[in-house]
Amino acid sequence: MKIICIGRNYADHAKEMNSPLPKEPVFFLKPDSCLLRNNQPFFYPKFTSDLHHEVEIVIRICRLGKNISEKFAPRYYKEVALGVDFTARDLQRQCKENGLPWEMSKAFDGSAPISQFIPITDLESIHSVDFRLKVNDETVQHGNTAEMIFDFNKIIAYVSKFMTLKTGDLIYSGTPSGVGPVSIGDRLKGYLDGKLMFDFFVR
Ligand code: MG
Repeated sequence: MKIICIGRNYADHAKEMNSPLPKEPVFFLKPDSCLLRNNQPFFYPKFTSDLHHEVEIVIRICRLGKNISEKFAPRYYKEVALGVDFTARDLQRQCKENGLPWEMSKAFDGSAPISQFIPITDLESIHSVDFRLKVNDETVQHGNTAEMIFDFNKIIAYVSKFMTLKTGDLIYSGTPSGVGPVSIGDRLKGYLDGKLMFDFFVR
């Protein structure tokens, strides 16, 4: 399986990163060795001193497809989770400055904590679901999927032009504003429509 991550999908986050608003979705990949499940602790890597949280809604692809039209995209995902796209911001800055791929800042082990999945039908609407991240019980990020620049169907249509989507592939759909550093000892809790989805420590 592969993990597809969307960058700059919330206008307020693009602004806080001084990035222009994209005309088409920006995406990158993480390997499956990034996944961190069951509220396992995240171990702060030695190669960064500026590790940032990015809370994101995640969908799981449920059937094989390529060149999927936006109209049929809803058939390709039935479950949703909440995840974190951990980013070594100092390394990412270096990569960006040098025009290099930024995998080392995004695709390291444990950089994609993920909650359990719930059926989309449990939500009122996947297109207006509220989510938030609390660090040490203080809300640091709060978003709503209604604010996405590219919604899930647009993302699926766009990405599937370039690569076949397979059952089990995950899409991290971008982060709202409020990204910031985490430290050893921090406790991260993620909520989807008020429901606690993950709760883990940085060690
Ligand atoms: Mg992200």
